[in-house]
Amino acid sequence: MNHDPSCIFCRIASGQLPSRKVYEDEQLLAFHDIAPWAPVHFLIIPKKHIASLADTTPAAHEALLGRMLALAPGLAREQGVTNGFRTLINTGEDGLQEVPHLHMHVIGGPRPWKKG
Ligand code: 5GP
Ligand code: ZN
Repeated sequence: MNHDPSCIFCRIASGQLPSRKVYEDEQLLAFHDIAPWAPVHFLIIPKKHIASLADTTPAAHEALLGRMLALAPGLAREQGVTNGFRTLINTGEDGLQEVPHLHMHVIGGPRPWKKG
């Protein structure tokens, strides 16, 4: 499925719901988390609906996953991160994933902020 109308991040990706955009290209969107844990906290998502990292395979998603990770340092720098950041992908129920559309958190900025 490319777009799941019941999925909040699909609706953000399609512009049906607003977000504070950090970056966009044909495949990917990055936007600020609505409930940030730290001075900088944004999410990088594929525009296409993929429910979680557990729904990817190397054959189909290696390039997409590589691009998500490779974007993080430059976008973090653009957001003012100078001293390190966390990248985090929660996967599935036991992995504490709340929104069932693959997303990578990028979390940083001057401490103190809790580990989450
Ligand atoms: P998860 O626990 O699934 O890894 O993280 C989901 C993240 O999405 C949470 O940090 C939460 O604050 C964020 N989030 C949930 N709904 C929205 C929304 O409508 N807009 C934005 N910008 N972030 C959201
Ligand atoms: Zn979705």
